[in-house]
Amino acid sequence: MGETKISGKVQTVLGPIDPDELGITLAHEHILIDFLVFFEEPEESTERRLAHEPVTIENLWWIRQNLFTCLDNVRLIDEKTGIRETMRFKLAGGGSIVEMSNIGLGRDPKGLARIARATGLNIIMGAGFYVGHSQTEQVREMSPDRLAERIVDDIVNGVGETGIKAGMIGEIGAMVPIDEFERKSLRAAAIAQQKTGAPFNIHSSHSDNLILDNIKIIKEAGADLSRVAMSHCDAWCITDDVLQRILDEGCYVEFDTFGYEGYFPPYQGRHFNFPTDEQRVKTLLRLIEKGYLKQLLVASDHCVKTSLASYGGFGYDHVLTNVVPLMKLNGISETQIDTLLVENPKRLLTFA
Ligand SMILES: [Zn+2]
Repeated sequence: MGETKISGKVQTVLGPIDPDELGITLAHEHILIDFLVFFEEPEESTERRLAHEPVTIENLWWIRQNLFTCLDNVRLIDEKTGIRETMRFKLAGGGSIVEMSNIGLGRDPKGLARIARATGLNIIMGAGFYVGHSQTEQVREMSPDRLAERIVDDIVNGVGETGIKAGMIGEIGAMVPIDEFERKSLRAAAIAQQKTGAPFNIHSSHSDNLILDNIKIIKEAGADLSRVAMSHCDAWCITDDVLQRILDEGCYVEFDTFGYEGYFPPYQGRHFNFPTDEQRVKTLLRLIEKGYLKQLLVASDHCVKTSLASYGGFGYDHVLTNVVPLMKLNGISETQIDTLLVENPKRLLTFA
């Protein structure tokens, strides 16, 4: 593992901080995101009209069934909304947010820095590349070494001319079936991790096999699996057996879709439903009882307007306001909750 000046620190958009300053941390969110990658223009003219309307109480009935078919719903691009919404987390006792919008998701370093200053929250920004079809042809053509250089540069020197540095490699995107770019991008992330000692997070889409395949790719490329988090391990019903295989490889398992319950629009011709928060908590408890407490992370992956409190959603304070009481009711202790929300993200986010 290469040693950088940031070794032993956490890198936020406003500079390095001592890991003890993090406090309660949401391990996977989006505050500013242009999530156009899954937007699909409907065929029908009436639906096309709905697809281009702003999110209001009048069209929520349709958007709830068509999360990614409403253009306005997939764009969190208003700073003032970002400040107001993340303040809910701060006021509930939160300290830090890992913002995973990297290349392909409309990353906005200056916007995130302003939100960090306005709210007093620590914001840790992502680097690297989201799924293959969110990338330009120019990026898709790059070699793994060139992609890795780009990630290292964002961590060591900052994004472009902004001087604002990423503190996380992720979320690195992989879809089913994984494409050639995504394989390169995973290898590049593993290379960049070895050069910087940065934490590393993978977005794997709804397939147990894909997650295990992603781990194999980064392992072969030399990644430190004890500093890798697998996102969305609670977005569909992964069996305990597969969750344990991920944990036994040394990775963190991230339960980051708290608040998303039940219906999810079919995509890629496949259909699945989100579990309930109660089911998520019960799975966490089983993993804790099996001895995996120190490898579990929690968040609520806000990436659409309808998940924000201003638009009738559960808000960034959901984990603290609603999930923590549910954890306690189900027998997860205060000390264990502290490990999930403070100690585990702190260990992961501290540069090696
Ligand atoms: Zn995400």
